[in-house]
Amino acid sequence: MEPAASENIRVAAIVPAAGAGRRFGEGEPKQFHLLHGETILGRTVRAVAEAPSVDYVIVAAASGEIERVVEIVKGSCRKGVVVEGGEERFHSVWNALDAVPKGVEIVVVHDGVRPFVTVREIEETIAAARARGGAIAASAPVETVKEVDRTRIVRTVDRKTVRLAQTPQAFRVDLLRRAYAKAFDDRFVGTDESSLVERLGAVVVVVDADPANRKITTPADLAAVSNDASAGRRGK
Ligand code: C5P
Repeated sequence: MEPAASENIRVAAIVPAAGAGRRFGEGEPKQFHLLHGETILGRTVRAVAEAPSVDYVIVAAASGEIERVVEIVKGSCRKGVVVEGGEERFHSVWNALDAVPKGVEIVVVHDGVRPFVTVREIEETIAAARARGGAIAASAPVETVKEVDRTRIVRTVDRKTVRLAQTPQAFRVDLLRRAYAKAFDDRFVGTDESSLVERLGAVVVVVDADPANRKITTPADLAAVSNDASAGRRGK
């Protein structure tokens, strides 16, 4: 893992991995669980670094986990750095933005717990962000979608108009920085980067992604992917 020598770094990836994994229950945060002998985070960083356009990887880790994450990142990518994360995912990505080297045009953010992302999903998202300013990977829902008020259905939403947001999410770096500045001004904390950029009124396009690019959130997710042949097919 080499530090940034900023010339020739055009695309930086940010991998937020500082979560405590509360929905995963007590104990080891989910990014450190093993999947076919490799940590979920290591596999995710390796998948991101395999995309030919990605020049540099910045991983946000919890303060007590920095050394462990440095070792994982060293084994998974050639050029990268580990920074301290923050209270929410939003703050972790913000801290990582500080470590983006000069000259970078595009920042692509990818959750540290989505190990099955493909090179196609990353490359198409980056290319669309270059062309349009912002782009996210998203999948179409296969279920019928209901809007609810607690337990009561308000209406059935036309699912053709709905996408489920995933990561990678890529943006021109100046646009993402402006979006963060506005979010801080407005005290808005989003659960993804796109929601910040959308608030500027800027264009964010969707790139078709597969539901297999899933986020490992609960122990049931981990059990499912450990036995899932299609998950294995996506990664190496
Ligand atoms: O909690 P959630 O599943 O949305 O987390 C998505 C990603 O954001 C995970 O990789 C997690 O480690 C990361 N995260 C972070 N800093 C936080 C909370 C979550 O980097 N404070």
